[in-house]
Amino acid sequence: MNNKPTIIAVTGGKGGTGKTTVAINLAYLFSKHNYKVLFLDCDVDAPNAAILMNADLEEIKQVESFLPRFNDNCIGCGECQKACQPHALLNIPKKKPLLFPELCIGCKACQIVCEHNAIEPDNKIIGKLSRGQKYGIDLIVGELQIGEPKSAEVVRAVREYADARLKEVKYDLIIIDTAPGAHCDIIHALDGANIVISVTEPTPFGTHDLKRILELITYLSSSPASHIVINRSDLTTQKQPFNEIAKKYQASILAEIPMSREIQLSYAEGVPVMEKFPDTAVSQDFEDIFKKLEAVLI
Ligand code: SF4
Ligand code: SF4
Repeated sequence: MNNKPTIIAVTGGKGGTGKTTVAINLAYLFSKHNYKVLFLDCDVDAPNAAILMNADLEEIKQVESFLPRFNDNCIGCGECQKACQPHALLNIPKKKPLLFPELCIGCKACQIVCEHNAIEPDNKIIGKLSRGQKYGIDLIVGELQIGEPKSAEVVRAVREYADARLKEVKYDLIIIDTAPGAHCDIIHALDGANIVISVTEPTPFGTHDLKRILELITYLSSSPASHIVINRSDLTTQKQPFNEIAKKYQASILAEIPMSREIQLSYAEGVPVMEKFPDTAVSQDFEDIFKKLEAVLI
């Protein structure tokens, strides 16, 4: 391994496939094998890795975003409103625009187009970062404030905070739990990943969303190794074309994990299944994934 930590991102085109379970059990295994692991919970709409690890968190900082404040230079020309894509401004002729802060995405387009120096920066809190530790794993969690639209900014704040931590602590591995889907948050969360694991399930929805996330991975500039984990692999008897999909997107099928009561119980108790049921078939599945990943670490 080189000096930079390897980044393994665990993602999934669809919610509820068990990606956080995969991410925390892999983090647990790497930590147990003496890797210094930093875990980033970038599923900022619903961060639950700390709950599933039963880890205490302390808040470290609030995440703020730009909000325009209009000063007395404003002549009410309306140019800022025309530039505001999310329609967060209402033009009132010859008066300062009316701002709808909940619609503002902080893009600063209004400030850029205003030729009268009438917009000053203000801030609004859109989320927070917290940190904790469990099983030797350092955890950084991003959490979006309820009702805020700018989840990607909170993801970016998690990644920036993690980059700053790398200057202080030598980590072997960063494991990132992303949000489900194939949108802006995911792109920020996957940025720089060396390995991406897409967790899916054998249903038509799972297959459809898997293709979307695998497609997105092909556009990443870090050209990560792409792997698939089929979770709840015995959920249906209906065959899904996973082999063809893997071939098309140059991904490998890392594991098929059948449904297991042990996973349900460990999930309910907030303990990694590797900790609670180490000598079971499902734990062996995770051990196998760990060994395959360890063999390709860069
Ligand atoms: S562009 Fe500037 S001057 Fe014109 S309405 Fe907006 S803030 Fe006021
Ligand atoms: S920062 Fe962007 S979204 Fe917010 S008011 Fe200005 S133009 Fe609109």
